[in-house]
Amino acid sequence: MTVRRRGPAPTPRNQFSFSRLKAFDQCPLRYRYRYIKGMQEAFRSVESHLGSAVHDVLEWLYEQRENGRSAGLPEVLERFAAAWKERWDENVAVVKTAEAPDSYIRAGREMLTTFYHQVFLHDRSTTLALEERLSVRLAPDVVFTGFADRIGRTRQGRLFVVDYKTSARQGDASDFSEGLQAPLYASVAMGLHDAGECLAGYCYLRLGTTSWQGVTRDQGQALQERFLGLVRQAKSATEFPARPGILCAWCGFNNICPSAQVPRDLAGGLEHAREEHMGPAV
Ligand code: SF4
Repeated sequence: MTVRRRGPAPTPRNQFSFSRLKAFDQCPLRYRYRYIKGMQEAFRSVESHLGSAVHDVLEWLYEQRENGRSAGLPEVLERFAAAWKERWDENVAVVKTAEAPDSYIRAGREMLTTFYHQVFLHDRSTTLALEERLSVRLAPDVVFTGFADRIGRTRQGRLFVVDYKTSARQGDASDFSEGLQAPLYASVAMGLHDAGECLAGYCYLRLGTTSWQGVTRDQGQALQERFLGLVRQAKSATEFPARPGILCAWCGFNNICPSAQVPRDLAGGLEHAREEHMGPAV
């Protein structure tokens, strides 16, 4: 199913991830700053930091199981505290000004506790890969790349890919939500693991729910073609208009963007970026 063609070696210029295309869809100007000009965002949101720390723990948890160890919940929460601390640096910003980092730590503990009791203790599936980098050439000048949180097989032997979400809300069926990401990973995993179909799942850690959909080889091929079509749109763009909205508060270019709209109660990232720009107080 996966078509491999000869072409130039993958470089950041021809590598397209799901998040790269999502950035183009959400705000072409942000895409231009980040992927065309290669600029660094001035801060990383605490929500992104929380997501990374929780993903670290889930990867560790399944690794322990594969190594014949069963970690208890207290150990899981200790691991989370360590990951939170290790990953925290001066680039992390709390966007919502009324919140403190502690509320995100509480949210992480709650998500992991729910996952541990509702999913992990009952999960009899086999792990094939954790945080696996998936990559497939879609055209001579386009390589799709992404990281699958967990690839495994159910007790019945069905291949699956699951993506952990720490967002507060469940996604919809649009291309840049549930429509494309996990099914696209599933399409690549089928090629890697020689399967005729694959389950693609989103595990919503805040809600304690997982939604699954089956992806066949033909559907996987169609998804890769749809992704390539979206890449073509991004590659051929000559204008990159700003698309201001609520996400400006979480955009690490909001201190330099002339169109940024950041409400006062979501100005934590913007203030952080301005302080960075001005340098440390003396
Ligand atoms: S601040 Fe808003 S409008 Fe400006 S680049 Fe970022 S997301 Fe786009």
